Amino acid sequence: MKEEKVKKQIAILGSTGSIGTQALQVIAAHADLFEARVLTANNRWELLAEQARRFIPAAVVIANEAHYESLRDALSDLPVAVYAGADALCQVVEGTEVDMVLTAMVGFAGLPPTIAAIRAGKPIALANKETMVVAGELINGLCRKYQVPILPVDSEHSAIFQSIMGEQSAIEKIILTASGGPFRTYSLEQLETVTPAMALKHPNWEMGAKITIDSASMMNKGFEVIEAKWLFGVEPERIQVVVHPQSVVHSAVQFADGAVKAQLGVPDMRVPIQLAFSFPQRLHSDFDRLDWYAMHDLTFERPDTDRFRCLALAYEALRRGGNIPCIVNAANEIVNRAFLEGRCRFLEMAEVIANTMQHATFIAEPTYEDYLATDAEARRIADNCINH
Ligand code: NDP
Ligand code: MG
Repeated sequence: MKEEKVKKQIAILGSTGSIGTQALQVIAAHADLFEARVLTANNRWELLAEQARRFIPAAVVIANEAHYESLRDALSDLPVAVYAGADALCQVVEGTEVDMVLTAMVGFAGLPPTIAAIRAGKPIALANKETMVVAGELINGLCRKYQVPILPVDSEHSAIFQSIMGEQSAIEKIILTASGGPFRTYSLEQLETVTPAMALKHPNWEMGAKITIDSASMMNKGFEVIEAKWLFGVEPERIQVVVHPQSVVHSAVQFADGAVKAQLGVPDMRVPIQLAFSFPQRLHSDFDRLDWYAMHDLTFERPDTDRFRCLALAYEALRRGGNIPCIVNAANEIVNRAFLEGRCRFLEMAEVIANTMQHATFIAEPTYEDYLATDAEARRIADNCINH
């Protein structure tokens, strides 16, 4: 009798987004190895229903409860359990038998289900970097306690992870590459007048709106510095951001002897997603390969924190520690949305974040409840700064 291969059961939190849909492409391409067991979305219930029809997961969750009935009716002929609400996200990762949880939702909202997954002993494929920005220390403590691994999905962190594979020695320095975003060459005067439409045109990556704006302001790179500190245990002084507009070198690690190992490739998030799913194996893919004869111009520059102040604010948040990164994340979520909606100017985003850092209550050793309270307080302060 032919033995059936055991497939890895994957929960995708945020399956309708940029990372989520690419993760489903990876699962479809390796249907003999992976199965989508849980799919979730916030508002796009029609796309979630389509995905459920194609992948037949055990359960789907729509975070916004207003769409529950539409989703349930759309799936009434399928053996798919339908749930709604933010709490259901936590319950479904705890209660469903899954081998890995891909956290591909946006923002602070990713924190509770990530914690629920870790407490339930489920390995994490981490795309939702805000979780590590807000509560990296807490997450690391929980991962140690429940012996849960975190596989990085962010391309830079996947590159660092790949560069330290097989190494026994400490990291001397992380070289965290940044594309510089669409405004890399803009002067401060030009940055005064940039619009959301301009910011949404990222030169190298097709991503969700929030991270695309964060990339334009370089807050995304600041968050990645924080993410790298917690994922790899490296202090911020040893994390060097290097602007590399071609996004071919996805990041690098320098060791005690001066040797540097980097991971290179065509910018394609399916590569780190697939590796997080298949680690420690590498699977075949038909994604584009690098064309070495076409790469005559790989360039590297120093980031300019006068023009991209958000990057400096993120370093400051790391140095000050405690709940400051959580404050920065909350304020950033507010200004990011406000900029997209035309209520906040591009350069004003950093001003509001700096103001919020000054006025929110500092907590040196925050608990989970403190993070919830800090997030709410910082959002209020940032909102007031924008509206006054
Ligand atoms: P998208 O905006 O494209 O997708 C976000 C997903 O999360 C959607 O499925 C969305 O549902 C869902 N979602 C959003 N808010 C909530 C909420 N409050 N509760 C429950 N679900 C929610 O984002 P991306 O895929 O671009 O990014 C996802 C995460 O991955 C982010 O943390 C980002 O920083 C990180 N990341 C992304 C990269 C990329 O290339 N896109 C690269 C590296 C990291 P709905 O569709 O219904 O709105
Ligand atoms: Mg990245």
